Amino acid sequence: MKRFFCDKCGKCCEKLPALVIDPGLDDGTGKCKFYDSQTNLCTIYDQRPDICNVDKMYSAFASLMSYEEYIDMNYYFCTKLKEV
Ligand code: SF4
Ligand code: SF4
Repeated sequence: MKRFFCDKCGKCCEKLPALVIDPGLDDGTGKCKFYDSQTNLCTIYDQRPDICNVDKMYSAFASLMSYEEYIDMNYYFCTKLKEV
């Protein structure tokens, strides 16, 4: 089965408005308050919200697309975030 591999670029945690992610995560600058910009890592990774968990979020898309299509869509948005 196709898997999602994150290269830990940190862009999805640095550009929350672009993701329209939970506004409660924004530190006021567009970055997530749980993001460590020194390491590009999430400081609450094991307790991160479901919206940050690719596998958990598939349930919201399962009626719309296959898991493989969903993974491709995630890769597409990662690429777009790296361009902004
Ligand atoms: S934008 Fe994609 S590759 Fe970069 S940290 Fe986020 S999930 Fe990982
Ligand atoms: S909770 Fe973690 S994974 Fe989610 S946006 Fe914040 S730093 Fe990124």
